[in-house]
Formats: sequence, structure tokens, C-alpha cells
Amino acid sequence: MHPMVKPALRRGWRDLNTVQFGMAPAHAMVLGPVDTATGSFLALLDGTRGLPLLYEEARRMGLPDGHVDALVDSLFGSGLLDDATGGGAAADALRAKAAVLDRLRPDLASLSLVARAPGEPTRRLAARRSLRVQVRGAGRVGAVLASLLTGAGVGEVDVRDTGCVEPWDVAPGGLPADAIGERREEAARRAVRAAAPDRPPRRERASRRSPHDDPRTGFSLVIVAPRDGLDIHAPDPFAAEPLIASGTPHLYAGVVEGTGIVGPFVLPGETGCAGCLDRGRTDRDETWPRLVAQWRSGRPRHVQACDLALATAVAGVAAGHALAFLDGDMPSSAGARWEASVPRFDWHARPVWAHPACRCGAAEKGKEEHTSEEHTSKDGEPHETMAEQRPLRNLSHKTRAARLSGTWRAHV
Ligand SMILES: [Zn+2]
Repeated sequence: MHPMVKPALRRGWRDLNTVQFGMAPAHAMVLGPVDTATGSFLALLDGTRGLPLLYEEARRMGLPDGHVDALVDSLFGSGLLDDATGGGAAADALRAKAAVLDRLRPDLASLSLVARAPGEPTRRLAARRSLRVQVRGAGRVGAVLASLLTGAGVGEVDVRDTGCVEPWDVAPGGLPADAIGERREEAARRAVRAAAPDRPPRRERASRRSPHDDPRTGFSLVIVAPRDGLDIHAPDPFAAEPLIASGTPHLYAGVVEGTGIVGPFVLPGETGCAGCLDRGRTDRDETWPRLVAQWRSGRPRHVQACDLALATAVAGVAAGHALAFLDGDMPSSAGARWEASVPRFDWHARPVWAHPACRCGAAEKGKEEHTSEEHTSKDGEPHETMAEQRPLRNLSHKTRAARLSGTWRAHV
């Protein structure tokens, strides 16, 4: 083990013996009391030394026996320490590819803020390389989103779409101008390849299957990123049925008129799906089905509104939610849709309740969890609002874990 104080958090001394790791409140922590010798010793925890060498250095600095163990233990306990050599075989393989790791270094540093166990950040980053994700739709949102995922280290991103690239599909980070007139799917796949920090060998890709993959679709996650605003405003429950039936996690993202939408993220049978959304809307507004039928029958032939900045923001937020799930967390779009509209871009979440009449079964699951899980109290953090409205098993456990480490946590 080579302990390393996570370099992602900038250090500052609040007073002579209290050190603050990190600047932004979301991940900052305060450690104290720390005497001067221990403070100097912290600088040695940079991942270049194993424990035997650290013991030796500590003795030279006059630190009592057991001090190193106690310090390392408490730093590990507070999630401030990583193991520069940990994470298993896949992490070692990634470390061996220096150029690839250099591309992903900021992402690794960011992962170190949420993956607390030693070696876990590199293990998670390496695990992305074995995942397969499908993006359905290669417009301004879908093509950028697919490129973001592959750029962030997801091993295989499969883009699906029909037709040819139109001039208005072009977007920085997505379909390039020189692809106009080409088949959309081909052009998007080329953009995805160009964004990848590494290209896994072909034979490896063909045989690769992650244990998280659904056996029927073969994808850890499917992202529905339609070019038509109607399909994101009113996602078609019938189109989602194969995903629900196969238990494939999926996420919706797109732009309708002047509004960008991310969500819901659907864990089939666990969180509200397109069918739940549709039924909930019909409950609240009996004219909803009539409107949807009109919108569907009169598909517009003209170019749809899609603000480039909004589309890019949607792609970014959706990629973040997708990566959170792929890394093992539950994104806040589970049971919710995040929306922002031009010109104010004020992101807010709308709940997508599991509907008792929906065949996905999420409503019954939710009922069970309501009785078995204690209700988590509000933290004042806007991101946790949705989790509170529809408590999910993973989220409430995590919230409790965060509370346990409260002695290390400071409001800054
Ligand atoms: Zn449903």
C-alpha cells in the first residue's frame, strides 16, 4: 500500500493545528488537532512511499510509534487517503497505459472525491473501460453525449440513429461539419471513436461482457436521446417496453422547444418509467392523451428549436448522471426529470412518481421501501430533494453513511 492524501482537495490551515482539505463545501473536510510534526508528515503521504518507509521517516521526525498507523487509519476512515497502488488488476492495467491515464487524470481526481475506499477511484475508472452503453439518437444532444461518455473512459458506446447528417445536427463535440450528408450513425460512431482516450483491441471488445450487463440487450445502460422534441417531452411507453421487460436501466435526455430535459433515469421495476410519467400526467390532466395523439400525428417537417448551449448542457448533465450510475451511485434523475429552459437556465427537478397502474411495478416496490426505510431528513442541498421525496434504498443508506463520518465533515 502506498498511501496518498487525495491531491484533488486543495489544502489550507485554518489555524496552527487545524487543516482543511478542499475548498468547495460538497467535499471539503477539516482535520484537527494536527501537531506540527504530523503536519509535515502529511506531505510525505503522496503515494510514492510504502508503509515501511513511512514508519522510518516518522521515527526520524520524532513521531511516536503507532502514530503513523493511527493517522493513516483516520485519514482512510475520513476518505481523504487513496492507495496509489490499489484497485486490482484492471487498475494496474490502466496505470500501465500512461498516455491514457493522463487523458483521464482529472476524471480520476474527481472520482477520488466520491469513491472513498483506498484504490477505489482507479478501480472505478478502470471498470468504465469494460462497460457497454447504447445511445439512441445522434443529434445535437445524443452525439455529444456519446462522445462525452467515451471521452470519460467508457469502453464501448454504441450510437444508433437513422438518416443522414443535416447541417443543423452539427455541434462542437458531436457531429462535425464535414460529416454533413453522411449516414448519421456512421458519423456519430466516428466522432465517438475520435473522443476515446484509448481504443480497446477489437477481439477484446467482441468477447467483453460486464457482469452488470443485461444478458438480453448486452448494455449496462441505454440512453434515449431523441432528435425529435416530442419524444423527450412525452417519451413513448410502448417504445420503452423492451427495456422494461429486459430490466435494462435507461435514461432520457433531450431538448423540447426551449426546454432541456434530463431524466427520468429508470431502473425497471424500481423507479418511475415512461409509462408512469404518462399515466401520472393523464391523472392530472385528462386532455393529455388527446394532445399527445395530435402531436404524434402531426409531426413537424421544419427544423425544430434546439438551443446549442442548452443541448450541450443537457448532454453534459445526462452524461454525468449516466456515469454516476455506471460508477455505482444513484443519480438524482432516478424518479425525477431535471429541466432547464432558455434563457434563464435554472435547473430544477420535477418528480416522476411510480404509478400504481403502470406494469413496470415500481409503485409496489416503492411502497415496500416506504415501510422498510426510515425517511431521511432534508440536508438543505437541492440535489437531495428528489431523493427525499422518493426515498431509494441506496440513497438513504448512503446518506446515513455520510452522517456517520460527520465528525470529519465541516461546513466551510
Ligand atoms: Zn412505470
